[in-house]
Amino acid sequence: NPPSPYIGRFAPSPSGPLHFGSLVAAVASYLDARSQHGKWLVRIEDIDEPRCVPGADAVILRTLELHHLYWDERVSYQSNQHSRYQTVIDSLLEKQRAYYCQCTRKIIRASGGIYQGTCRHLHLPAAGNAVRLYVDEPVTLFNDRIQGEVIVTDAHALEDTVLKRRDGLFSYNLVVVLDDIYQGVTHVVRGYDLLTTTAAHLTLYRLLNTKPPEYAHFPVAAMLPGHKLSKQNHARAIGANTPLQNLHKVLKFLTLWKPECATIGSCEALLAWATSQWDSKKLPKKAEIIVDQHDSPY
Ligand code: GLU
Repeated sequence: NPPSPYIGRFAPSPSGPLHFGSLVAAVASYLDARSQHGKWLVRIEDIDEPRCVPGADAVILRTLELHHLYWDERVSYQSNQHSRYQTVIDSLLEKQRAYYCQCTRKIIRASGGIYQGTCRHLHLPAAGNAVRLYVDEPVTLFNDRIQGEVIVTDAHALEDTVLKRRDGLFSYNLVVVLDDIYQGVTHVVRGYDLLTTTAAHLTLYRLLNTKPPEYAHFPVAAMLPGHKLSKQNHARAIGANTPLQNLHKVLKFLTLWKPECATIGSCEALLAWATSQWDSKKLPKKAEIIVDQHDSPY
C-alpha cells in the first residue's frame, strides 16, 4: 500500500491535567486518524507560558499512555520553536502583510470591543507593540466535516489577527497554523469552541499560500449551557485508576457506544473497536453536550 497522507494531531495546552473534555478531544482526533490509517501526533501547546503548569505535560502524556492512546513521532513543544515563529512574523512585516499595533485591550474595549484597524498605517516601532495581521478579505466560509457549511460572522474572528502580543508572547492563532503546516497536518479534529477561530486560521493559510487542513469540530462537553468543561471551570482531572471506564464514557459522549462495548475488557480492544466504527459524519452537529461530571453515564 502507498503510505497514507493523513496526519492528525492532539494539541493540549499544559495548563493542568487532562479533564473529561480534553480526553474527548484526544480520543476523537485519535479515532479519526487511526480509522484512516493515518498518523496521530501530539503537540504540547506551551506558548502561553504564564498559564503553563510545570510538569503538566508529563501528566498529560502519562494519562494518554494509560488509555492506550499512543502517538507517532516525537512529541513537539511550542516553547522550542520561537525562532521559527519569529521568522514568519518578520517576513509578513517585510511584505507589509503585518504591522505593529499599540492598542491596549482597554482602548479597544472603549471603542466598542472590536479592533478597527486603527494602527494599520501608523508605521509604529516594534518596541512594546503587538504585531497584527493585515486582514483585507477574511475567509468567512468553510466546510466542516462534522458541522457542514460554516459561515463565520463573529467580528472578533474577522478582525486583524494578533500574531504576537504586546507582552511578547506569540498568539495561539499564529502558532497553531504554523505548527500544523510545519508538521504536515492534513486533518484537524477539535472542539466546537474553536470553530470561529478557524476563519482566522484559514485567512492566515491563504496569506501564507498554503493549503489548509480539513477541519472537524465536535461538540464540547459542558456542565451548564455555555460553560464548557475547562480548568477555569474546575473540571476534575481524569481518574488515573479507571482508564477503561473513562473511555466508555468518552464513547458514550461521542454517541459511538453500543451495548456490545460492555464486553470489551481493555482500552486497547475498546479503541480498536471504536476505530472500526468511527464515522465523523455521524457525530452530532452541535456546539455542546451537557454532561454531569459526578454522575453516570459520565
Ligand atoms: N491547544 C488548544 C487547546 O487546548 C487546542 C488547539 C487546537 O486543537 O487547535 O484548547
